[in-house]
Amino acid sequence: MMIVMQAQATEEEIQQVLEAIRSRGFQPHISRGEERVVIGVVGEARRAEPDAFLRLPGVARVVPLSRPYKLASREFHPENRIVHVGGVPIGGDEVIFIAGPCSVESREQMLETAFAVKEAGAHILRGGAFKPRTSPYSFQGLGEYGLELLAEAREATGLPVVTEVMAPEQVDLVARYADMLQIGARNMQNYALLRAAGASGKPVLLKRGMSATLDELLLAAEYILSTGNEQVVLCERGIRTFETATRNTTDINAIPALKARTSLPVLLDPSHGTGHWAYVAPVARAAVAAGADGLIVEVHPRPEEALSDGGQSLKPERFARLVQEARAIAHALGRSVLHEVPYVAAD
Ligand code: PEP
Ligand code: MN
Repeated sequence: MMIVMQAQATEEEIQQVLEAIRSRGFQPHISRGEERVVIGVVGEARRAEPDAFLRLPGVARVVPLSRPYKLASREFHPENRIVHVGGVPIGGDEVIFIAGPCSVESREQMLETAFAVKEAGAHILRGGAFKPRTSPYSFQGLGEYGLELLAEAREATGLPVVTEVMAPEQVDLVARYADMLQIGARNMQNYALLRAAGASGKPVLLKRGMSATLDELLLAAEYILSTGNEQVVLCERGIRTFETATRNTTDINAIPALKARTSLPVLLDPSHGTGHWAYVAPVARAAVAAGADGLIVEVHPRPEEALSDGGQSLKPERFARLVQEARAIAHALGRSVLHEVPYVAAD
């Protein structure tokens, strides 16, 4: 349930409500909106007594939350939330691009790609150092050396970096290098990992599981939010359907359907969504038109040599054109693509 404070409620009254929530064994999560303060009451499924809170001074209303997720819901936090990654705002008025190779493969490949995507207009650099591969015999990533290369590419270009973390025990290591932690589709319901990533305090890019419903995605986000980490970005990356012409089926519906349910930012990954480089730009354009807050795109200078996902990777020139196309579409809809921003280290 959610406690809506009166617009003129004092800080003392707010603190009194927080205390009342804690004393009943629940956790308060406070959302300070422009007009009024809303306090989410969460805890395990025991019933909270709305009447007890209604009588406290400064309380306007006590509203049951109708969705299974609470902190992730738009009811709890009506205004769009902005997640900052190394100074890049995700979820504001402007569309952002995350780009880079599927895997970090070598120093040369990483630096070349980083400069190329920056030149093309990307805001955040991606690259996997720990790779979740379907076969144990496929390239598994460079591990910590890959993280070092990502950090070097950030130093060289000023682009913040996002990279995948696959296990709770890897979180500290990955968080030492990355500006944002990625939780991949295969790990969307790895609850220990969700909690550990949340506890790191880093922004988290949470990808939709390939067979997960939107409610399940939002409940996974809820695990992260319930650690007190509010910096969660959702990503649609295609789901498994009966269709075999493409690697996955991009669920464009997910963009407006998520936006209706949550105020967290929503990105689209047209690379994994299609699995084919020639379909990446058309689907990316559709995502901008559908209201996505940004795109995450695989880019490789020589896709034919890539150690993973070469077939769905764009060459830098094609990626640069996509950013321009996205600018035109955003503009037609009264939005824009973010311009370059200086790197800001997290506290
Ligand atoms: C990736 O981003 O390279 C990746 C493995 O994505 P997903 O988890 O969506 O398959
Ligand atoms: Mn990939």
